[in-house]
Amino acid sequence: MVQVTHVGLNHLDIWVRRGVDSHPFPLPLIPGSDVVGLRTDTGEPVALHPGYGCERCDQCSRGQHSLCRHYAIRGETVPGGMCERIAVPESHLLSCSIDPAEAAATPLSLLTAWHMLVGRAQVQSGQTVLIQAGASGVGSLAIQVAKLHGAEVAVSASTPEKRQRCLALGADHAWAYEDVRDKVRAWTGKRGVDIAIDHVGTDTWDTSVRALTKGGSLVTCGATTGHAAQIDLRVLFFKQLSLLGSTMGTMDEMRDAWDAVSRGSIRPVLDRVLPMSKLAEAHRLLEDRTIVGKVVVEQDL
Ligand SMILES: [Zn+2]
Repeated sequence: MVQVTHVGLNHLDIWVRRGVDSHPFPLPLIPGSDVVGLRTDTGEPVALHPGYGCERCDQCSRGQHSLCRHYAIRGETVPGGMCERIAVPESHLLSCSIDPAEAAATPLSLLTAWHMLVGRAQVQSGQTVLIQAGASGVGSLAIQVAKLHGAEVAVSASTPEKRQRCLALGADHAWAYEDVRDKVRAWTGKRGVDIAIDHVGTDTWDTSVRALTKGGSLVTCGATTGHAAQIDLRVLFFKQLSLLGSTMGTMDEMRDAWDAVSRGSIRPVLDRVLPMSKLAEAHRLLEDRTIVGKVVVEQDL
């Protein structure tokens, strides 16, 4: 049993609240995917795995939890953490040695970024990585995951303030969206990047595909500007590109990524903390897209 103290918000919370066409959520549902609190038996601070598999199927036994047919995401398919106490199996706990609000800003986005770069694209030292929307929750952690693995990183972001934030997180280059195509050519000597990370969708898809070098990989985990995309099949086969889908990640990846946070190798990106009674305001901040970093709500104790 965990006494919840902090819950981080994700765009998923907004999708869950608004509803998604042809994707029923089980109702009633307690939202909240990123949950931090205290074990009621020991008082130890813990964070919860945001997603988990059934631990019985073939995919789970191979460690591929996010491919499990019964993969569960807290606050989406099973009750989440916007509550006082939550009971979970001990295997879903991560020990939490950092500031609890920063911890709550992190697990789901970090797992998403880690699985895209490490699990799917298999990022290597010395590779070039383009991260679209580098100032987003996933983007700001993807910058750090890529740098941790020795890659060179360029990002796109809409405002000078956001680009500055990306550089401060370790990005080597930060560009406006409209400049990405030319800047990639100049940066890589017309070669193109090894990996493009894209969760923007329709607006950036073509630029991301064309930014890739021969044998390059595009990894997508979302489509915030729309899910329709086209591709010139000649580009796909001549350049031997890989188009990779990604969602959440494995429980081992969550533990590896969490170790990096606990060591201080990856810094959570927290914009602000609000009391849980201001949850509506927290949702509005997220929808306005003016914040840089995550919003966390804390229990009104
Ligand atoms: Zn399973």
